[in-house]
Amino acid sequence: MPALLKKRSIAFHTLGCKLNFSETSTISRMMENEGFEKRQFDDLADVYVINTCSVTDNADKECRQLVRRIQRKSPESLVVITGCYAQLKPKEIAEIPGVDLVLGASEKFNLAQHLLELSKGDSTKISSCDIEDVSGFNASYSLNDRTRTFLKVQDGCDYTCSFCTIPQARGKSRSDSIENVLRHAQELASKGVKEIVLTGVNLGDFGKGADGNKKNEENFFDLVCALDEVEGIERYRISSIEPNLLSDEIIHFVAHSKRFMPHFHIPLQSGSNHILGLMRRRYKRELYAEKVALIKQLMPHCGIGVDLIVGFPGETEEEFKETFDFLHNLDISYLHVFTYSERDNTHALNIHPVVPQHTRHERNKILRNLSYMKSQYFAEQQRGQNRKVLFEGYNKNMMMEGYTDNYIRVVTPYNPAFANSIVDWTV
Ligand code: SF4
Repeated sequence: MPALLKKRSIAFHTLGCKLNFSETSTISRMMENEGFEKRQFDDLADVYVINTCSVTDNADKECRQLVRRIQRKSPESLVVITGCYAQLKPKEIAEIPGVDLVLGASEKFNLAQHLLELSKGDSTKISSCDIEDVSGFNASYSLNDRTRTFLKVQDGCDYTCSFCTIPQARGKSRSDSIENVLRHAQELASKGVKEIVLTGVNLGDFGKGADGNKKNEENFFDLVCALDEVEGIERYRISSIEPNLLSDEIIHFVAHSKRFMPHFHIPLQSGSNHILGLMRRRYKRELYAEKVALIKQLMPHCGIGVDLIVGFPGETEEEFKETFDFLHNLDISYLHVFTYSERDNTHALNIHPVVPQHTRHERNKILRNLSYMKSQYFAEQQRGQNRKVLFEGYNKNMMMEGYTDNYIRVVTPYNPAFANSIVDWTV
């Protein structure tokens, strides 16, 4: 092929959450449609894109390391940084040697257009606007193998949790229309996808439309009911939902649905009402306990995951113990434990006293141990039951893995007959 007609190649690296993965996946498909050839990040490419995260503790460090790696390997390649961290700190990122382009929240889906105007050696370009001006919704889904996909149906958040920078990085709450989501679900079903994980920043707040202003015309319950009717998709999961937005009607619906799996992930963050108040969360621990009790009453086999933050400013030994005891008595299956870390421009910076780092790490360790015990206990409770497992297609060192409907991980020797299939399994 003559050099002039040679395809440009592009490689992506994603930091952070499933939402970022679904967006990278969509942007990479868009770039392939524009004629780019997709490469692995470790391979040589003409353009490298890093989709960053603001929740990651050392986003800055990770970004610098990745850029250095690219420069060593391929100094002539273009380097583009986008994602939440790029929206929050565009100037800081632009100063990293080797970065050519910084794209904010509104621009990441216009990557192809920006690349047309970019050459190596130009001064670093920043294309970003104030987050208040970001509107519109870009639907995305990940499509790494045929088994499971993360489908983004909502973006942004109107809450003001005092530790969180996501609203500053992703803007106000916006969502896709139910009509569009159904279209994507049908499209995914036709590609052979078996499981869709509904993904968003504040999923339960679904329904505000692409401009974030249309209120209550559609809501998350309507979405769940509509998706349940799509032929071809065998399983749905709700990636995470705020306890105050997890209505009893959603719980009842899931309990009777064939397609929505008996599995919830519900952020708690703290088991102390005082700390929940300081965090500006919109519920008390009593409401959380009521939701868990209703779920387990209707679905005793349901898997329930919990997010926690330890070492939030002001968290005393007594309040941490309250959290521990609350979780200890709660019928849940696993915890995701995060250690609090300071973020610029958050209200939590004004709360004192701060918890020393070593105490934060000790508390993290204690809850991780509790999580291990909870997950062992849950698996033990389910032992001998017949559940359905969706196996992934990968052969990892002659082994394969999958998840039961209620989210117990199953690992077994690789069997091609199980790949991308739902199999009856005694756990
Ligand atoms: S609900 Fe709170 S923690 Fe979650 S994205 Fe919104 S502000 Fe952040």
